[in-house]
Amino acid sequence: MKDRIRETLIELMMVPGLSGHEDRVRRAIQAKLNAIGISSRSDRMGNLIATLEGDASAPSVMLFAHMDQLGFVVRKIESDGLIRVERVGGVPERALASQAVLLCVGEGKDVPGIIGNKSHHATTPDEKYSVVPYAEITIDTGLGSAEDVEAAGIRIGTPAVYVPRVLPLAGDRFAGTSVDDRAGCAVLVELAGLLKERPGLPTIHFVFSVQEEYNLRGALPAAQTLQPDIAIQLDLVLATDTPDMDSRGAVKMGGGPAISHYSFHGRGTLNGVIPHPAMVNLMEQAAAAEDLPLQRSAHIGALTDLSYVQLVGEGVVSIEMGFPIRYSHSSLEVCDLGDLEGLTRLLEGAVSRIDRNFSLDRDSYT
Ligand SMILES: [Zn+2]
Repeated sequence: MKDRIRETLIELMMVPGLSGHEDRVRRAIQAKLNAIGISSRSDRMGNLIATLEGDASAPSVMLFAHMDQLGFVVRKIESDGLIRVERVGGVPERALASQAVLLCVGEGKDVPGIIGNKSHHATTPDEKYSVVPYAEITIDTGLGSAEDVEAAGIRIGTPAVYVPRVLPLAGDRFAGTSVDDRAGCAVLVELAGLLKERPGLPTIHFVFSVQEEYNLRGALPAAQTLQPDIAIQLDLVLATDTPDMDSRGAVKMGGGPAISHYSFHGRGTLNGVIPHPAMVNLMEQAAAAEDLPLQRSAHIGALTDLSYVQLVGEGVVSIEMGFPIRYSHSSLEVCDLGDLEGLTRLLEGAVSRIDRNFSLDRDSYT
């Protein structure tokens, strides 16, 4: 299983897919699903949906992970060919200098570039420790004029992402671009293959969602269409086992999958997820029965598209499940394949425990 997840993860990490421009990622995932005999469809937003029909008297389940990644769109092309950009999603400005980027013009036509970093020899003492705001950065493609840039297919609005990259680290660790959330997508693909042959399951919708990094709401139309009783979102949880994160929590890289017991974001949008007790209970029971580790996360500063999906219809019984990640949103995020395998097994165990007797009543659990 680990080898299959590794292969899918590497393949998906290498496909660029800025928020709102997920089409190549969607096609890659659709091909993976086709290869294991699962058909899928996409909606107008670009969400990819695969349904395994099951027991209609059991609560239906939507399992989802987002396909998109953060990045930039071209804002202005200067006469000398340097490119200015707007940011899309939570771009970490202090980790942008000298990054390699890819301007996504079209498959086979993408243009590489670099984010310029002022020559060190000309850097003043106060510039040495200051961060250049994204609005002031320029991308250098090597093309020397606006005409040449436009001839290469780059226009205002062209998407750009970190150059897709995978860097295997020691053991089961992986560094690279868009581990958030191609790792979640890889787990979902693996899970779909495992559950496809299993009898006695509820109806399960696998949704690969769009525009999570942009406005968190791309998955909404899929949820409104599917009207699931239960929603389980797969995304990162912050590993806190580096010195800079130590006081934030107790999530260890390689320590297994985690339940997010609390997520919240207070900047701009007041939202987050406090999981339904039925789902916390289900995950804890599944972990105990399958002898899997299960970590706990609770933190402010991050949220997922489940924040909106949980509010669909009469309310959806929801939980955010995650794999530990280090260095989130930088060009080299790190995850551990063992955690992804653990998350897959945990979800397999959890979903197979949902039957017609599974109660969604809070009073059964509190
Ligand atoms: Zn994410």
